Amino acid sequence: MATPLTADRLVAALRAEGVKVVEHRSWRTNNRNHVGSWGPVNGVMIHHTVTSGTVNSVELCYYGRSDLPGPLCHGVIAKDGTVYLVGHGRANHAGKGDGDVLSAVKAEAPLPADNEADTDGNTHFYGFECVNLGDGKDPWPKEQVEAVVRASAALCRAHDWGRVGPTSVIGHLEWQPGKIDPRGPGITMSDVRARVAERLKHPAGWNPGEDEEMPLTAAEIEKIAERVWEKDGLIEVPWGTEQNPEWAPKFVITDTGNILREVRSRIKAMEAQIAALQVGGVNLEALAEAVADKLASRLAE
Ligand SMILES: [Zn+2]
Repeated sequence: MATPLTADRLVAALRAEGVKVVEHRSWRTNNRNHVGSWGPVNGVMIHHTVTSGTVNSVELCYYGRSDLPGPLCHGVIAKDGTVYLVGHGRANHAGKGDGDVLSAVKAEAPLPADNEADTDGNTHFYGFECVNLGDGKDPWPKEQVEAVVRASAALCRAHDWGRVGPTSVIGHLEWQPGKIDPRGPGITMSDVRARVAERLKHPAGWNPGEDEEMPLTAAEIEKIAERVWEKDGLIEVPWGTEQNPEWAPKFVITDTGNILREVRSRIKAMEAQIAALQVGGVNLEALAEAVADKLASRLAE
């Protein structure tokens, strides 16, 4: 499916992937759809802004420059990893690039060298501009690169890209001859692609390094249950000893069973005694009558 995502779906996909999203001004209707087509979309393109400062960079990408009207991308990725959405629809970010590269992106095949500028990229690519001077010195914080990975993965996931290969995500430098973006230190497209590919193996909310649920085999569950069952130190018991105040569930339950059995047999004995009292003929009615007679005869004296 290569129909561009609606604005709502785009926001939802980014947020689901753990991206902090800011909706900037009227981004939902900020586009260049009146000068050309938007879609079918086939991939994601990463750029650097050659600017510094978040507000300045976001406004530039929203409005554009005198020689290049905005939006200049769909999202601006700040140094802290926040993604500012500045456009939805056709945006001026990709320019003309190599049709052979587009073919490779569509096929998710290895990218050929970009040595032609014969194809309109603004139709086919989502674009993210990352705040960086691009001078080879301005560092890329890890939060920013993580946001590049997550934003790219969000779009790949939404479009079901990346099943064959990782080349749905490319750098501007891989598209248009003469371009150098994105330029490190701290980012390479091969690293971004590897991380996107890894993300796509996990649910959208995945955080790398986080403990993951690993399904246990029945034999493993049995072994764990057995160990827990027999392990002292799990349940504090009033009858515990100083050396061992916390017992294994196995002993707690065995003890509880013994106590219950004793209580039950005691109750049975008491029930028998009570029954014997009734059968043994302490007749309360008769006793009351005898007392009444005695009283009556005393009063009569
Ligand atoms: Zn660029």
